[in-house]
Amino acid sequence: MKSNTGFIIRSAIILLMLIIIIIDAVVIRHLKKKIDNLIIIGWQDSTLVKLSPNSIDEQTVLITKEFIDEFNHYKSPFKDGLSFQVLIEKYIRNRWSDHYGCSRGTREKKRIHEGIDLFVPENTPVYPLTDYGIVTEVSDNPHYLVEVEYKKTDDTRHKMKIEYGKTIRILYPEGIASIYTHLNEVYVKLGQEVDRNTIVGLTGLTGNIRNSGKPSHLHLELRDKDNKSFDPRNRLHFDQGSVEFFLDHLNIEK
Ligand SMILES: [Zn+2]
Repeated sequence: MKSNTGFIIRSAIILLMLIIIIIDAVVIRHLKKKIDNLIIIGWQDSTLVKLSPNSIDEQTVLITKEFIDEFNHYKSPFKDGLSFQVLIEKYIRNRWSDHYGCSRGTREKKRIHEGIDLFVPENTPVYPLTDYGIVTEVSDNPHYLVEVEYKKTDDTRHKMKIEYGKTIRILYPEGIASIYTHLNEVYVKLGQEVDRNTIVGLTGLTGNIRNSGKPSHLHLELRDKDNKSFDPRNRLHFDQGSVEFFLDHLNIEK
């Protein structure tokens, strides 16, 4: 009788273990299928790259669509918690020349103001517009030149360089980039990951602002994946949906 009880207990344990092994196998199969659908971003040396699911290790960063959606809410660059719309109303002086699209240059070289000018005291800290971004361009040179497009009187398009001064470009998960210019200080380096708590620089008076007769301000541009600027006031109606473009940019050399 005693050995019989022992046999039943041993059999029950073996049966239980078998059931656990079968459940585990089913769960593992299920997870493997899920992993196949993941986009995996990881470090290789000092570069962010797309990885295959097999190369996951403790340094791997997972970026899901949910993550990107969550970090897609654009806010003020001044850490005042203002929405984009309120920000624009508050900091643009509302003069013609502060808005996007107003004409710049000369009659022979017509170009437009590709951003908006936000008037805050000199040396105001500036932050990224969303909770996650990557620095894709940065210059600590107060005379830094950026290539822009202009039209001649015959409407043909050409390129010229404009002195933007100390400049930072941040790419957001959606594929939109912000450019901050005329900065007095830049605190980030190329390829750096930033969030809403990163002070990327200080507003200032570098670049061609000296010739404009304007006081210190933040010149803010938004650019799409084709590097075309658009009116930040239209941001709330702008739907680009180019997550892939953002992911391509993760191959940035630091
Ligand atoms: Zn400007």
